[in-house]
Formats: sequence, structure tokens, C-alpha cells
Amino acid sequence: MAKIMTAGPVQVRENVRIARSKVTTNPDVDPAFAEDYKALCDKLEKIMNCSGRAYIMDGEGILGLEAACASLTEPGDRVLVMDNGIFGRGFDGFVSMYGGEPVMYTKDYHEPFDPDELRAYLEKDHDFKYATLVHCDTPSGMLNEIDKLCPILAEYGIMSVVDSVSAMFGEPVDFDGSYIDILCGGSQKCLSAPPGLTMVWVSDKAMDVMCNRKTPIASFYANITAFKTYYEDKWFPYTMPISDIMGLAAAVDNYLAEPDVLQRHARIAAATRAAVNEAGLEMYVNSGYSNTVTVINVPDGLIDRQILDTMIEDYGIMITGAFDVLAGKVIRIGHMGENANYEDMVETIAALQGTLSKLGFRLKANMVDVFNREMGR
Ligand SMILES: *Cc1c(COP(=O)(O)O)cnc(C)c1O
Repeated sequence: MAKIMTAGPVQVRENVRIARSKVTTNPDVDPAFAEDYKALCDKLEKIMNCSGRAYIMDGEGILGLEAACASLTEPGDRVLVMDNGIFGRGFDGFVSMYGGEPVMYTKDYHEPFDPDELRAYLEKDHDFKYATLVHCDTPSGMLNEIDKLCPILAEYGIMSVVDSVSAMFGEPVDFDGSYIDILCGGSQKCLSAPPGLTMVWVSDKAMDVMCNRKTPIASFYANITAFKTYYEDKWFPYTMPISDIMGLAAAVDNYLAEPDVLQRHARIAAATRAAVNEAGLEMYVNSGYSNTVTVINVPDGLIDRQILDTMIEDYGIMITGAFDVLAGKVIRIGHMGENANYEDMVETIAALQGTLSKLGFRLKANMVDVFNREMGR
């Protein structure tokens, strides 16, 4: 099997895999499960500095995005969909599916949102119930400054739904300090558990709004309010995937056991970008580089599939291209969570260098040397 150096799912550490294979109780009827679930949610709240509540839902990361829109949107609500990437734009579908009116705030996909521009826009029109935005838009590797953008939205009384699925646990997130209302995460990105779980962090204000709607939430599975009293009632809306949650708990403990995890991501990402730039390759974004994924333009004359296939066939390393409007245009290296370590990354950089040389691209520098220099090796 190839080594997955992809932007999620990523490699899973052995102690997480073992945790998922342990003997389990019946989570429907054993009150001990609600205690363990709450202890894990408490940790998640603390990590993201959230004075609201965190919940773990049974579904891949997309469920959190849909659940936020399903639970907040009432028919006719205007929602600002902040679009400078594929996931950013994709929120329009969830908003309209639940009867809302998405208003697109579309910017160049090569640039992060500019807080001053957003403020100027809201000065003219701020009649929105909430806004959606993406922290790291993974297909392009775009990192948006949620710590600057969400407070501006809050000033105008606009709630924020933030997709940080591919950034959180690799980039800093301050839920309360950034005035975020719903924060969405997934198990399979920086946290490095297998796919299958969504995490949502919900402000008291957002919970209040969701519980006091005029119309019922048009979903059962994507209804966040169904979790509100799980602890008091020892009751979940459906049987919780206990083995997945035990794996997630081990992954969260791995995260907490490493105080420098964000610095580790920053160093690996900076060294990767240096190797890419000095070799004469181009990053897709002009600024706003996420420390969790590096997205490189496919060099002129090459085809993404050739690069990806050669990486697998000659080196046993899987990286990815992208999809939608970026299909064929970029290749992506995921250095998030368990992938963000020196050994795997130097192997990946060496493989990319070998692959590009084989395919006839003339590198301007030795990527491995640059990577090693930046890593202090
Ligand atoms: C991975 C990811 C998700 C979850 O969706 P997938 O089905 O894994 O694509 C949501 N948002 C972002 C930004 C992601 O990177």
C-alpha cells in the first residue's frame, strides 16, 4: 500500500487504531458512555477555547457543514457565502437546500479574504443571518484569517459558520476570541483518526437561535439541537459509533501530549514551500499559505496524472490532484497531523523531485537539500 501523503485522510497512529479495536459497552444504555463522550467534548471545547458546547456527530466532515446550515437556516434567510475556494463556494448548496437565500461574496481564488474589503462590503449590506467561510480551502491550500474576519461579521450582528476541517489541530483556532458561532471539524485531517466523525463547536448564541426557530429544522440526522441535552438525559438521537469515538479520544490525547504540534506544522510547511519555490515550481495561492497542505501548480507541459502515477509507481507515495475548477491544474501534498513529520516529508520531497526530473521538468534547486536546510538538518 502506498504511503498516503494526502490532504486527508492521513496516516493513523497505531494507538488510535488499537483504541478502535477495544471491547465496547452499549452506548445507548450504559451511562458510562455519556460520561466518556462528555469528557472528550470538554477537551475539544478547551482546545478550541470554546465557552459554548462541542458535539461529536456520526458522519464524515461534510455532515458538520450541512448540519450547521440545516440547523440555522429558515426559509428566506439571507446568508453570506464567502467564496474564495471550492469548499467556500460549496456552502451555497447547503444554504439553498434548506430554503435560505445564499448571497455570494466571491473573490479571486489566489488570494485570502481581505478584512478591510469585507468591512467595506458589509458597510453597504449586512442584512445576513449568518455567513459561511472556510479556514483552509483544501483544494487550493488557501488559509483565510478567521481570527480577523469573524469578529468583523460579529460587529455587524452576523453569525459565522467556519469550516476548519482541514486546518484545526494544525493551525490555531480561538473560538471565543474570534467570535465564531459554529465551527466544523472532521476526524480524518490534522487530528489523524480515520474518517467517519464530525465535530461541531456551537456558541450559546447559535444554540439559542437554533432552538428558537419559527419553523422546524428540516432534518433529523443534521439537527444539532438534538444533542443539546444528551448529558442530562443520557440520550443520543441515534446510537453513537463508540469505536470511532474511542479512536478519536486517543487521537485527541495524542494531540494534547504534544505541546508544539502547531509549530511542527509551521516548520514542515515552511520547509516544503522553500523547496517548492527554490526548485522553480509555483504555489497555487499568492498568499495565505496553509501549514497543513501545499498546493503546487502543475508545471507547463506536464499532466497531473503522470506526476501522481509516477509518485506511486516509482516511490510508493500517494499525493493528489484536485477536483472541480482546479481539476488537472494542481498537485497537493498533505502535511497535516501524522503526515507532518520530517521522515515522511523528506521522502515525499525526494519522490517529487525524482518524479519531476523523470518527466523532464528541470528543477532549479535540489529540493531535498533545501528542505533539509530549512529543517536544520
Ligand atoms: C476534507 C474537508 C471536508 C470534509 O469533506 P470531504 O468529504 O473529506 O471532502 C470539508 N471541508 C474541507 C475544507 C475539507 O478539507
